[in-house]
Amino acid sequence: MKDLDILIVGAGIAGLTAAALLKKEGAEPTIIEREKAEDYNRSGYMLGLLPLGGRVLTALDLQNSYFNHSIEMQQYEIHKEDGTLNKAYSLDFINKTYGSYRGIARQELIDILLSKLNKTRIIFGNTVKEIENTDHKVQVKFSWDEFSEYDVVIIADGMHSETRKLLWDHNEYEYVDTHWGGWVEWLEGHELKAYKEYWGASSFMGLYPVKDKIGVFLGGPVKLIKKEGVAQFSKKIKRDVLPEYKILQNALEQFQKSDHPFFWEFYDVRTPEWRKGKVILLGDAACGFLPTAGVGASMAMDSAAALVDELTRTDKHHIEYGLRLFEKRQKERVEKAQTDSRNLGSLMFVKSNVLAGIRDYAIRFYTLRELVKNISKTMEG
Ligand SMILES: Cc1cc2nc3c(=O)[nH]c(=O)nc-3n(C[C@H](O)[C@H](O)[C@H](O)COP(=O)(O)OP(=O)(O)OC[C@H]3O[C@@H](n4cnc5c(N)ncnc54)[C@H](O)[C@@H]3O)c2cc1C
Repeated sequence: MKDLDILIVGAGIAGLTAAALLKKEGAEPTIIEREKAEDYNRSGYMLGLLPLGGRVLTALDLQNSYFNHSIEMQQYEIHKEDGTLNKAYSLDFINKTYGSYRGIARQELIDILLSKLNKTRIIFGNTVKEIENTDHKVQVKFSWDEFSEYDVVIIADGMHSETRKLLWDHNEYEYVDTHWGGWVEWLEGHELKAYKEYWGASSFMGLYPVKDKIGVFLGGPVKLIKKEGVAQFSKKIKRDVLPEYKILQNALEQFQKSDHPFFWEFYDVRTPEWRKGKVILLGDAACGFLPTAGVGASMAMDSAAALVDELTRTDKHHIEYGLRLFEKRQKERVEKAQTDSRNLGSLMFVKSNVLAGIRDYAIRFYTLRELVKNISKTMEG
């Protein structure tokens, strides 16, 4: 591993996880990150991390700091728009069987991963301009017009990967747009141990706790909610919430106070081929997720672990074979989890009252394992 020259594009969850694992194996990857150092790791939102991701932090001896900066989730609840509980699922079977299912702020997770990368070279405020596979290496031209050669290039620059475009034609990956989206805000001063979602007709809300605060999502069909704007839409939704559901009321009030909450459009992306020569896609750049099953970050970490595992068994003359084995091992597993997220999306993103009523009735007969059957299987191996 020490001999491998590795470039990682993107210092997000996938890129940093891969870098930390590579470093543990003796490699010294270079990371290039588009954000300037002073703007980096500012995007604050909440993550639910399944044991698939948590186990990777255990492998990096980071379990203590992970546990100190996150909280264990005990329940997943689906409510109606007015706040009444429709169905509650205990998360005990995950916590007891597979490992702790935890809520963490993205910024905290990034900092925890960075703690393993003290002397790793991260080049901030720059990107890759050109990539070319040559016989033995990958030649890269950076945005500051310098060239370098690497044995492997890992593209981990997220759902809207610009670097992927340098080698993959636009018809070699497919975005799916749900035409739904919404705003994200923090609600301070509340503690919860349950994910609470509020499935309406043309509206969706979620409360996702992390340590000391709650990430709140409010959304619906993009055209409709953008036209109304966050203040008006949250006011409208609040009118239907029963007075006893204080936390939901508070969360909606938070949106009325905020100027420019982060707006998130629900796309996902699938790339049938993750590899071109000695260049490999990782995380959302390979297969990006809808937020519905809360599994994108966990799968990105799970894939980073699989990739590094394959690279540790590969010498510089057989990189393509190693990457091929990684793709074979991981792609179907990740795409199946993505399918669960899509299926959940079609239950959540309902516009008509009639369909929402049928869904609300039917959901009572589903177990959690049935709702996310591929992810359940993935946790089994
Ligand atoms: C609001 C929100 C809530 C979410 N909730 C959950 C959840 O509960 N559970 C879950 O598992 N997942 C969740 N996700 C999804 C999760 O965040 C992603 O799946 C995960 O971050 C993917 O990791 P990644 O490293 O592939 O991409 P990212 O984490 O997006 O990292 C990409 C990195 O590449 C950098 N970059 C971008 N372009 C370039 C370029 N051209 N050159 C160099 N660097 C570049 C970016 O600045 C960034 O640092 C959520 C996402 C959002 C937005």
